[in-house]
Amino acid sequence: MTIGWMGLGLMGSRMVKRVASLGEDVIAYNRSSKEIPDLPKNVRVTQRAPEATRGCRLTFLMLADAAAVEAALIDSGAIGSMEPGSVVVNMSTVGVEDSVRLADRVQAHGIGYVEAPVLGTTRPAEEGKLVALVAGKEADIDAALPYLRTMAHVIHRLGNVGNGAAMKLMVNYLLAMSMLSLGEALAFADRAGFDVRTAMAVLETSSVWPAVYAGKRPMIESGEFNPQFPVKHLAKDIRLFTEASEHWRAQTPMAGLARDLLRRAADGPLADLDMAALTTWFRDGETGRAPDA
Ligand code: NAP
Repeated sequence: MTIGWMGLGLMGSRMVKRVASLGEDVIAYNRSSKEIPDLPKNVRVTQRAPEATRGCRLTFLMLADAAAVEAALIDSGAIGSMEPGSVVVNMSTVGVEDSVRLADRVQAHGIGYVEAPVLGTTRPAEEGKLVALVAGKEADIDAALPYLRTMAHVIHRLGNVGNGAAMKLMVNYLLAMSMLSLGEALAFADRAGFDVRTAMAVLETSSVWPAVYAGKRPMIESGEFNPQFPVKHLAKDIRLFTEASEHWRAQTPMAGLARDLLRRAADGPLADLDMAALTTWFRDGETGRAPDA
């Protein structure tokens, strides 16, 4: 059986290797041409989306956003190339309503739809240590399970489509708040006369030191922000969080400010840098000021 794959970005280019390690042939679509180092021999890369669905019982998607999923899977005609009974597994981070809508459109073709957004970044993607937030019909999830297990060491089965997206956005809300808060804390420390290493050394010994600060510490201290998780995707996720919040009337007033700040960051030179670059943003310039400041 050939497995289909769509999206060879920062995450997809790593995750596809885990899937290929199970030994089956993989046909991997990417919109632009890509040279992926150390790509296993059983992975063939194509720029034609329908090749990553035709004859594939399973196609995994790791694309930027819902618009990318629509373009690659639906507008390209790729969905029409799938045999009824096959399954699409969307691992991209999309909105709650996006996911439900995509599921409806896919299922209208007699194709199963599983949502499986992931927690974890490029290193866990390489090592098969992501956390998958999986939702959809049980039989469809079971069909994808061996492949999900090679990418993720924890799999949460969360019920109906939309639930995986909701949990993913909840986590990334906290991620956004953590990085923005650290940026403000470090801007404050800078004005108080402390360099970033001293400030980080103090924070590390406090009770408010999460794993993400430890993970991003080398970038923050060196000032090199080669992207693992780019600012533009964090900005997307907080926007999706606020949209779902508004829909459910959840009381999340701080998220609106975070969304506006991240939108501004993603409109500027930080867009493609790792989100850890946000820790320099308030310190280094005017750009980080809140909209009404
Ligand atoms: P990325 O490096 O920006 O890759 C995005 C992928 O989407 C690329 O393959 C890109 O193709 C493709 N794409 C974008 N627009 C498209 C369109 N209109 N039509 C077809 N393909 C399109 O992103 P990533 O970091 O791998 O993340 C992928 C998804 O996982 C995102 O939803 C992100 O929020 C989520 N995520 C990321 C991380 C992380 O740490 N990076 C962690 C968890 C979840 P091109 O190469 O041609 O641009």
